[in-house]
Order: sequence, then C-alpha cells, then structure tokens
Amino acid sequence: MKSLTLTLIISLSFSIYGVAQQTLPDTIKPKLQISEMDSLLGTVEEIPEDSLKSLDESLYKNIWSSTQIKYPVNTLPNKNDTIIITLLGNDSTTFVQPIKGAVISKYGPRRGRMHTGTDIRLNSGDTVRCAFDGRVRLARRFSGYGNLVLVRHNNGLETIYGHLKAISVKVNDTIKAGDLIGLGGRTGRATCNHLHFETRLFGQPFDSNKYIDFETGSLRSGKVYYANKRAEIDLHNFKKKPLPSDGAELAAGGTTKHVIRKGDNLSTIARRYHTSVRKICANNKITAQTTLKIGRVLRIN
Ligand SMILES: [Zn+2]
Repeated sequence: MKSLTLTLIISLSFSIYGVAQQTLPDTIKPKLQISEMDSLLGTVEEIPEDSLKSLDESLYKNIWSSTQIKYPVNTLPNKNDTIIITLLGNDSTTFVQPIKGAVISKYGPRRGRMHTGTDIRLNSGDTVRCAFDGRVRLARRFSGYGNLVLVRHNNGLETIYGHLKAISVKVNDTIKAGDLIGLGGRTGRATCNHLHFETRLFGQPFDSNKYIDFETGSLRSGKVYYANKRAEIDLHNFKKKPLPSDGAELAAGGTTKHVIRKGDNLSTIARRYHTSVRKICANNKITAQTTLKIGRVLRIN
C-alpha cells in the first residue's frame, strides 16, 4: 500500500510537471533586429497575443483588481523598457469596433480636465461589443463612468466601456471580440447617450484613435509600442530630438552639442556659438589640429 501511494505521488508529480512544461507560456522574446531602437530604448519585450495567463504574470504582476482601474505606480514597467503589443496574434483573433457611430468627443484636454477616452454617439439600448478577446476585470458602477466594464485583453491592452445602460457581463468572464458587453446609455457623468471608450496599458490611458480608425472600424496598426507611460504605433514618435545626422545642434540636458558637417572647422563653429576654439577644444579634449570627422558630435558648453 505504501509503495503504491509512493508510486502514485511520483507519477502524479511527474504528470503535473509534464503539464506545467507543456503549457509553459512562450511569452517574452527579446527583439534583436531593431537596431535603430537599440540606441534609444532599453529592454525591448515583445508580447504575443493569445497569452493572457502569462500576461497576467509578466505584464501585470498578477494584479487583478475588480474595483480599481489603475495600478500601483511601482508596478509600471521600467522607464527605459519598451513593450511591443501585438494587437492581433494569429488568424483566430480579430478586432471589433465596440459601436459604429460618430465620434462626438476625442481623447485629450477638455474644459480644463483630461478626457481619457473617445466618445461615440449611440442610441439608448444599442449593443456595445468587446474590442478584442479577453477577460472581464471590472463590471460595476464607477463614479463618473456610470455603469462600466473593463476588459483585459489577450494582447495586453485593457479597454473600458462607460455610461452603459446595462452591463451584460460579470467579472472573470472570458469573452471574445464582438461579444456583447452591455447596452449603451448615459449613466454617470454624461449629457447624452454615448459610449465612453478607453484604451489603457498598465492603467495609463492613451488615445484609442492612435490605433483604431473609428470611421472605418479597422486597426491602423498591428502593433502598439509602450515606453515610459506613452503608447505609439510608430517608434519614431518616441524621438523628441532630431537625429544627429542632420547637422543641427542638439540641446540635450542643458548642454549644446554640434554635429560636424562638411565644411565645418573649429573657427566657424566657435563663431556660430559665440565661443572660442580654445573652449571647444577643452570641452572635447581635442586640439586645434584634430581632424574633425563629419558626424562627430562636439560639446559646445
Ligand atoms: Zn467620454
């Protein structure tokens, strides 16, 4: 009997281990080929769609609140990290615009406060649908939002549906893109019937119009990049400064820098910045005889 129990335990633990190994999520793969980004951004992680279980852990650190929209600040990704969200992973997944209708108020500052969503006109009782596959995290009345549903999607995004007349889902429900979320209305702070639709990443709202074309009901991009509390569909939008190759001076962190162009010499550069050749040489540990290579960045002050 004893040995039978032992065998059972061993085989059980083996099978659990086996299952665990099989379902081990293939979540985060380092993205190596984006060389241009490497100089700008730190770690780049790509999150494939269809991995909600592993997303909960890797992106959201297993925080699953059914009462709060936001996350504690210390759970946000590292400032220098870039997270790549693949909106549609494989052909079994899709995107469905929650409701077709006129956009009556966009994301952005509005009457002195931030409007964190896109307002779409609807008629009371209209069907509001889920944007992507996912799981319901909030389904309740939530201050100005009125009746609200928040879904965490399998791609890592979270979307919010506000001012609903009725909620048709429950917390922890697994739902598909296009499934009924609730009926449109004007509960909460709303002056007319409309859907307040939001997209968030790590609790931070961003403009859904960046990745959804609300006129056609289609996605503008297959990917969303998130870095330092911002989300973009084009990596170049993260760059605030001109690239060094254009020969313009760059102002970075209070210092002025000059990128050497064809025809430059230390005297012309010194004149341009109202400084002296001696100072430029000292700042850059060079001499007046140093050959100036095109593209080299000189510190002016
Ligand atoms: Zn709104």
